[in-house]
Amino acid sequence: MNSFSQLQLDPHLAQAVAEMGYESMTPIQAQAIPVVLSGQDVMGAAQTGTGKTAAFSLPLLQRMIKHENSSTSPARHPVRALVLLPTRELADQVAQQVKLYAKYTQLRCAVVFGGMDMKPQTAELKRGVEVLVATPGRLLDHIEAKTAVLNQVEYVVLDEADRMLDIGFLPDLQRILSYLPKQRTTLLFSATFSPEIKRLASSYLQNPVTIEVARPNQTASTVTQLFFNVNEDDKRRALKLILKQKEISQAFVFVNSKLGCARLARSLEKDGLRTAALHGDKSQDERLKALEAFKKGEVDLLVCTDVAARGLDIKDVPAVFNFDVPFNAEDYIHRIGRTGRAGAEGLAVSFASASDLRLVADIEKLTKQKIDFTVLELEEERAFPRRSRSDDDGRPRRDSDERSGPSRSRFTPVKPPADPFFDKPYEASVQPSSSDVNDASSQADMAPVRGSISPNIKPKRKVAALFKTTT
Ligand code: AMP
Repeated sequence: MNSFSQLQLDPHLAQAVAEMGYESMTPIQAQAIPVVLSGQDVMGAAQTGTGKTAAFSLPLLQRMIKHENSSTSPARHPVRALVLLPTRELADQVAQQVKLYAKYTQLRCAVVFGGMDMKPQTAELKRGVEVLVATPGRLLDHIEAKTAVLNQVEYVVLDEADRMLDIGFLPDLQRILSYLPKQRTTLLFSATFSPEIKRLASSYLQNPVTIEVARPNQTASTVTQLFFNVNEDDKRRALKLILKQKEISQAFVFVNSKLGCARLARSLEKDGLRTAALHGDKSQDERLKALEAFKKGEVDLLVCTDVAARGLDIKDVPAVFNFDVPFNAEDYIHRIGRTGRAGAEGLAVSFASASDLRLVADIEKLTKQKIDFTVLELEEERAFPRRSRSDDDGRPRRDSDERSGPSRSRFTPVKPPADPFFDKPYEASVQPSSSDVNDASSQADMAPVRGSISPNIKPKRKVAALFKTTT
């Protein structure tokens, strides 16, 4: 048992951890925390959902405790730890977590990201903060405005480094890193160790300890993955049908483009589904509001693009839909990682039209699993009643939405006996294949999903068979 008590954290940090209700350390925490406490650089392969924020922030806070003071002088609160993330939402999420861990200490944490007024951020920076969480672009603005002074930084975290490179932040990162003292601890976390990531690490990390708890390219064992062969024009109907059949109360719906995201969200909203959209063209304020509404259960479907949704930690999302198969197979893993978090069961549903089969084959290759297709009969959807947006209390509802309280999930998966997510976070998921249906042991695994599969869903066809019919 990897208990937090064996770390001998400062009592103020230990108290905050105890309040979080964590029973034991996750694998990334058990491995990374002692290394970071010892002052070594770390190169960690870990995805969000593994507890990696605590894995780097707790030991950094512990090391900074010696600097905590109650002085009101900004000079006594220089930036000592810098955490860089690719998106505003992630930066906000990480800062919120760091603030929770630091709440009984006198260490201060602030977050800066673009799309928001610089002035309040500037005021906060001027008061002095020990931990600064930031997206690269906005941090550079503050560096140029001389509101962020980084010459006393002792610790740097490059979180979601692969994504930062994908987005094209490398030049910004290089500039930021050039402002930092050479003598420092650098931690790099990335879902994968691509050659570019290795190059970044070899330029900026010194003798890093490599920690790889999450074998990359695998999906969580708690997520049941279903693929449906659906024509482009039928996807919306298919989505509604599956929501209804499986009584899914909340889901992420991923699309590949901002325009597609806005369109789909609008049309689902017109159909009476409580929907919000999350994509890069939305203002920061709109994005945070959409996310908040989804977290509170005021919105059932969050239609989003990859960049906007990357790494968001929203507990207990029962399902993820790939309305579009992602262009990049790695995004498939990130997307479906939004469900089945922290040991809960989740459902990932993907719609693939004939033109997507190559992308599906890429996913098969990356995840090293055989993907079988389920044929979805869409007849029943016609009977799916539409409700007017002004039903009852004026709130748009789905027909199946009869909950009395803010219950987040009506797709009630059976809890696994232990907590396999933290034991084996990225063990390959067992695909529901046609042969599974008669297999008693896998039937137990699949019970919550299979029990609600409609008789309209016909036996699956293999990907290969689909290739034959379409090429
Ligand atoms: P992260 O991977 O840092 O985004 O964390 C994912 C979620 O796991 C967050 O909601 C954390 O609060 C939660 N978490 C972090 N550490 C633990 C732990 N040791 N036990 C249970 N949950 C944890």
